[in-house]
Amino acid sequence: MTWRDKAACRDTDPELFFAFADTADERTAKAICWGHCPVRESCLEEALAAGIDAGIWGGLTEDERRGLRRRRTEAAA
Ligand code: SF4
Repeated sequence: MTWRDKAACRDTDPELFFAFADTADERTAKAICWGHCPVRESCLEEALAAGIDAGIWGGLTEDERRGLRRRRTEAAA
């Protein structure tokens, strides 16, 4: 069993997390992540470690993950 087995998005339409028709879709996806996903941290860290740059992972968009990665790199320097 991995963190993916506990993902709140497991039974939702992946399109919601990867193809944003509008900002309402993005907000809905993020609400699932931040509202009741028990593995949000694991999801986010995997996306950051793997450099995944598409879709919402761990409640953050691609741009937000890029920003977080940059801030962590700057803080470590
Ligand atoms: S944090 Fe969001 S994208 Fe990641 S597993 Fe949970 S619901 Fe899915």
